[in-house]
Amino acid sequence: MTICFHCTKLGFVMKQHSLSVADIESPEVLIVGYKRQKELACGECGRVLFPEEMYFEDERDYESFVRKTLDAIAEKISAQLDYCSRCDGYDIERSIYLVNKGEARDLIKEGAYGQTVWEFMSDNDIPERYFNEIRKRLCCRNCGRRDLEIGQRVYSEDDMDSFWGRKLISFAFSYGINIGSADLEEFRTHLYYRPMLAMQHEVGGQIFAAIQRQFEEGSYYSLAAGSELFRGRARNKDGAEFSAHDFWAPPDGAASHGRYNSIGVSVLYCCSDKQSVPYEIHPSHEQAIDIATITANRELKLFDIDKAFEGFEGFVGSGNEETKLIKRHYLLTNFVGACCERIGYDGIKYDGVARRDAHYVNFAFFHSKDDRKLSIVQTAPYFFEIVYKNPLSEWLRDNLESNARV
Ligand SMILES: [Zn+2]
Ligand SMILES: [Zn+2]
Repeated sequence: MTICFHCTKLGFVMKQHSLSVADIESPEVLIVGYKRQKELACGECGRVLFPEEMYFEDERDYESFVRKTLDAIAEKISAQLDYCSRCDGYDIERSIYLVNKGEARDLIKEGAYGQTVWEFMSDNDIPERYFNEIRKRLCCRNCGRRDLEIGQRVYSEDDMDSFWGRKLISFAFSYGINIGSADLEEFRTHLYYRPMLAMQHEVGGQIFAAIQRQFEEGSYYSLAAGSELFRGRARNKDGAEFSAHDFWAPPDGAASHGRYNSIGVSVLYCCSDKQSVPYEIHPSHEQAIDIATITANRELKLFDIDKAFEGFEGFVGSGNEETKLIKRHYLLTNFVGACCERIGYDGIKYDGVARRDAHYVNFAFFHSKDDRKLSIVQTAPYFFEIVYKNPLSEWLRDNLESNARV
């Protein structure tokens, strides 16, 4: 039975990975000639073939070609499969599990790093009908394992770098400071056991020096005087509206544990975009939001944390309970926050991630309990509508503790 090339459904994926039929050593592929007497039809799709179209004489040739092509595609895409969940990826998964354990809501989103084998194949334009065949052929570059499971996660070098804070290494390097990745790991452990002695560790001093150099060079994020910012607070719908003084951060020492609170000073969280405030606050059905409009009284110098950490939201704590164990992952960002505060930064700027449909920026200001840096110019209730996609997420929102961060 004649089968046309089109019926392999491999044309698109081959093109995406710059594979041509010539790259596949395949004597099986035939080409329809111009001088044919009789019309040639594909036994699979029934189409009459055009001159110069590629086809296979029979199923055996067809299958042999498909097999070789799948080998070639799997080899090509395996080049991007740097780690799997059976080798170094396991450390990421274990760490995420430990960070999220006991939290009302995941601090690191499930699936924030790496992707499943299914997603990996889908992203690489593999037709679903070949998923199982490709899956068997995939090979982890790090451990050499094959026959990965479809739901298992795979990781790129970039995933590893962002998860383990290696971006911090390149940040320091851009200021001429060389931190080894093993040293950074050791520092992380040091922070866990001796957080008060962070600066006595060589890497602690190096990170401090890099942040200081950036400040002195003037390559900080500058928020112009007069910039408008927003800060929201959730309250019960029938409760009294908050007044301006309720929006200032709690006094030093009284701050509950938050993103940067472990640095020992009170921190005021603001947002660049009013419409994004409810997304950051996660109000429930029973809650209303009041929003304060705040202006910068002078130029504010901010540390752009996304330059030093990628996938940064994962590394910070938002839990409120004092009883929680200190989580190793917060320690590094908390340390960076403490360095910034000591060096003279007014605060930290970080990208908002609670919305997918809009880009906005969040700020955490140090020592903002008075009106030297910032002024509250107006407070008002903010009307919003909560739209949930499905009953389960509605239930989850209503039953999870609302975790105000702005
Ligand atoms: Zn066909
Ligand atoms: Zn592996």
